[in-house]
Amino acid sequence: MSKYDFDLGILGGGSAGLSIASGAAQLGAKTLLIEKEKLGGDCLHFGCVPSKTLIRTAQVYHLLKQAKTFGLPKVQVPPVDFQEVARRIQSVIGTIQEYDSEERFCSLGVKVAYGQAQFLDPHTVSLNGKPISAKNWVIATGSSPAVPPLPGLANTSFLTNKDLFSLTELPKSMIILGAGPVAIEMAQAFSRLGTRVFVVHRGPQILTREDKDMADQVMQVLEKEGVVFFLNTSLIRTEDSGREQVVFLKTDPGRTKEMLSKMGPEEAVKIEPDRTLTLRAETLLVALGREANLNGLNLETIGLTFDAKGLKLDQRLRTTHTHIYGAGDVTGDYLFTHAAAYEAGMVISNALFHLPRKVDYTNLPWCTFTDPELAGIGLNEQQARKAGIKYSLWTEEFKTNDRSLAQGEKVGKIKMLLDEKEKPIGIQILGPEAGELINEWVAAINGKIKLSTLAMAVHPYPTLGEINKKVAGDFVSKKFLSEKVKKGLRFFFHLRGRACGEEIIR
Ligand SMILES: Cc1cc2nc3c(=O)[nH]c(=O)nc-3n(C[C@H](O)[C@H](O)[C@H](O)COP(=O)(O)OP(=O)(O)OC[C@H]3O[C@@H](n4cnc5c(N)ncnc54)[C@H](O)[C@@H]3O)c2cc1C
Repeated sequence: MSKYDFDLGILGGGSAGLSIASGAAQLGAKTLLIEKEKLGGDCLHFGCVPSKTLIRTAQVYHLLKQAKTFGLPKVQVPPVDFQEVARRIQSVIGTIQEYDSEERFCSLGVKVAYGQAQFLDPHTVSLNGKPISAKNWVIATGSSPAVPPLPGLANTSFLTNKDLFSLTELPKSMIILGAGPVAIEMAQAFSRLGTRVFVVHRGPQILTREDKDMADQVMQVLEKEGVVFFLNTSLIRTEDSGREQVVFLKTDPGRTKEMLSKMGPEEAVKIEPDRTLTLRAETLLVALGREANLNGLNLETIGLTFDAKGLKLDQRLRTTHTHIYGAGDVTGDYLFTHAAAYEAGMVISNALFHLPRKVDYTNLPWCTFTDPELAGIGLNEQQARKAGIKYSLWTEEFKTNDRSLAQGEKVGKIKMLLDEKEKPIGIQILGPEAGELINEWVAAINGKIKLSTLAMAVHPYPTLGEINKKVAGDFVSKKFLSEKVKKGLRFFFHLRGRACGEEIIR
């Protein structure tokens, strides 16, 4: 008989915890899943699912307002009833929640328990006053919005992603602190629904992990739709004036002038001679990054080290107690649901099969779901330069893709980075359905498919995916149809070269 109550105990029933629990139980491990609130985690309740549902609603509303550009009669759209929007969000969550239900996990053989566990020793936790032991543990408690100790913020009412999707009214105006994917996705969605949105960011570029040219194009689209950006702007303090939230900013004087020119005379913005800018809005959204949920687990007493970003783990996702693993946002670096699922597989291999698999994030794709979307896999130019990797760059624009034009989408491009051996080391796509288009590269790069194979594979016409074939084709034809090869071909087949420009037809 085992000396432990369970083979595997998991703390946290979100993306990572649920994947590990279902995998482990189906493999025959006696599995316990402990969740503090409700199964599904941030992704289902406050993250991916509600944000993508909101984004779609905002996109449809935006398209309705654009009817005229599609040759349709102008549509006069009434204002958004956010309660209806929130209802749709909850209904999508509800449908997915059935799949993440306790009943389903119980049917797979997982024991689901609720409460906040604390480690008593490296194999035992206390849950609701009772000790429970497991041979292996996984910490998959996710992350929460980081709320830095900014002056005044503690006394100012603000929203985070936890509040956004259950608002009962559409905010008239919103100041967003931060310019990462969550901030930018929400800036566009709320702006499209009718909120006046101001984005405040201390750096010179939004979506800082992306190449500047791509991030700038996203910003231009949002600016055109009415979002106002304050870049190179630091926050001095915030204040709650009762009806409105006020932020005091120190900003770039040149850019401020430009920003102010985009704002109406009625807008509550004031600039002082010392360059302090006062901005007011009905709501303040704090989207300044994430903090791992590790406090309160008693990790210190069992000697585990962690910081605000996450747990200290080795490449097999083990803590210093090698039977305690970390997965999902607590790992600190790749805060995506698909990263959590990947890490879940890694934990199962290591903990249950004792297969020493190490994580490798080289081919981890990502997508920011703005419209147009910005997706990528591998290295972008910024990262390749930082790593000292020499690369060649191949690009293709959506304005030359027939389907894109038919859909009324002209913004964006694909960037393909090849290393010195002419192997793809990174792809970025800014354009319609970029999150879907990147999947062909996910398969091609993971399957080590040659660029010539991709270039020669017939893609249906007209599709957005032809842009993938085209960029690969550009490289292949340039490589194989060098001037030397062209000369050889002309010689062998008695070809005579350019016809245009010669007066042969009389
Ligand atoms: C607005 C927003 C949009 C996003 N959009 C996307 C997207 O489009 N695509 C994408 O890939 N990712 C997206 N993400 C990121 C994604 O939500 C996370 O990467 C993912 O949820 C991480 O999974 P996890 O299991 O680590 O954490 P979670 O899914 O948050 O799960 C952690 C669980 O642990 C529980 N818990 C916490 N503490 C304890 C405790 N002490 N004891 C027991 N249980 C505990 C929590 O209640 C929670 O249920 C988004 C995030 C946000 C905020």
